[in-house]
Amino acid sequence: MSEYDVDLFVIGAGSGGVRAARMAAGLGARVVIAEQQYLGGTCVNVGCVPKKLFVYASHFQEDFAAAPGFGWSFQPPRFDWSQLLAQKNREIDRLQTVYQGLLENSGANIIIGQARLLDAHTVAVGERQFRAERILVATGGRPWLPDIPGKEFISTSDDMFALQHLPERILIVGGGYIAVEFAGIMHGLGVKTTLSYRGDKLLRGFDQDIREFVAQEMLKKGIDIHFNSDITRIETQDGGYLAHAGPGQTIAADLVLYATGRVANTEAFGLKTAGVELDEQGAIKVDAYYQTSQPSIYALGDVTNRVNLTPVATAEAMALVNRLYANQWTPVDYDNIPTAVFSQPNVGTVGLTEAEAGRRYPNDIDVYKSVFTPMKHTLSGLGEKTLMKMLVQRSSDRVLGMHMVGADAGEIIQGMAVAIRAGATKAVFDSTIGIHPTAAEEFVSMRKSVPE
Ligand code: FAD
Ligand code: NDP
Repeated sequence: MSEYDVDLFVIGAGSGGVRAARMAAGLGARVVIAEQQYLGGTCVNVGCVPKKLFVYASHFQEDFAAAPGFGWSFQPPRFDWSQLLAQKNREIDRLQTVYQGLLENSGANIIIGQARLLDAHTVAVGERQFRAERILVATGGRPWLPDIPGKEFISTSDDMFALQHLPERILIVGGGYIAVEFAGIMHGLGVKTTLSYRGDKLLRGFDQDIREFVAQEMLKKGIDIHFNSDITRIETQDGGYLAHAGPGQTIAADLVLYATGRVANTEAFGLKTAGVELDEQGAIKVDAYYQTSQPSIYALGDVTNRVNLTPVATAEAMALVNRLYANQWTPVDYDNIPTAVFSQPNVGTVGLTEAEAGRRYPNDIDVYKSVFTPMKHTLSGLGEKTLMKMLVQRSSDRVLGMHMVGADAGEIIQGMAVAIRAGATKAVFDSTIGIHPTAAEEFVSMRKSVPE
């Protein structure tokens, strides 16, 4: 008889935890997974999925505005937020049931409740205790807010998915993924949107051209962006809020959303007692095998605060479980991870930025760039432009990075990421026949590099 009740106890049924539990159970391990709030975690409930549904909803406004250019006329359409919310909730409920079914069918046992670590091999959920050979912490993260006067008036992205009424005016603070995505959503749904960012370019870490271009497109659509803006306090005013942004500068809004980053969920469930070390930001420290400072305890996904994306959490889960239960080690390759910001227009990116490429291969980079009006917008009257950019190492002809701002950039860059990972050269792109007429064909048609 084993001295343990379970082989693997997974804490947190989000993207990483569910994948790990399902796979490990499928490989014959005895698995229990505990979830305190909602199956599917952040991505399914208050992240990727409902966010993308909101993006679709908000884009209709532009589609309606474009329609007369193509001969359509109609009464002004009406939008009902409560109906969107109900539809979204129905879909999330469906997905939660799907997740439950997937876990149960794999043989994993689900326990609803907050898990606490009692020691390196013992987990408690409510009154129940489990002895586990291994424990996987996949507890994700939560929104982080700066400590300013009026903090109690601030909403987070979590709140946005349960808003009872759409505000007339919103102030969004931050310049990362969530701020930029919600600016597009709110503006598209007809909310007067102000974005306040402390720096001078949105989306730190992305290619400079992308950062400038996406802001220009957002401004053109009517989103009011305040750069170098530092909100120092928020107070109530006339049933809404007044945010103070330096001497004499105020922004009035009916809702204030802060998207100023996230922190790992590592508090108050016994990590310290179990001997798990955290980094300075409070995320769990792991080695290349997702092992924490306590050898029987592993961690992955957002709780380790490395690349905080769903496909990365699931890839980490698969790598870990294959190593532990299938005797295979196929490490996750953290290079060339493609990502999209579902702003309007979308940003899609894979590989090195121009600055990174220049640092890594000095005087050995060719830059290909194209800015154009996509065919749809020749008649739409909306004036939206697309940017595509490619970075090539001159000496090897290898494509090092691809960046795009434009409709469906996420969809397009996903395919390009395969080419980059396969080590495609510019010559391979040049010899690929385009699909006409598409925007994506521009990536195989860029012949002249930008003069240095
Ligand atoms: P999570 O999905 O956060 O799951 C952790 C789970 O653990 C939660 O369900 C939590 O309730 C549970 N938990 C915590 N503590 C305990 C405990 N003690 N006991 C039991 N259960 C516990 N990524 C993308 O790739 N694409 C996107 O478009 C995208 N959009 C996003 C939009 C928003 C608004 C946000 C906030 C995030 C978005 N992300 C997106 C990021 C993505 O959601 C995360 O990277 C992903 O969910 C991380 O998965 P995880 O398993 O590490 O954690
Ligand atoms: P990000 O880290 O992307 O952005 C945080 C923003 O808040 C930055 O612009 C940052 O500014 C700003 N900020 C930080 N601290 C302060 C402060 N004290 N005062 C004012 N501004 C501040 O975090 P998000 O919350 O937008 O998203 C969290 C993560 O979730 C993302 O990094 C991503 O990993 C994931 N995500 C992925 C999505 C996708 O794949 N499409 C969508 C949404 C989220 P500065 O740049 O100057 O530091």
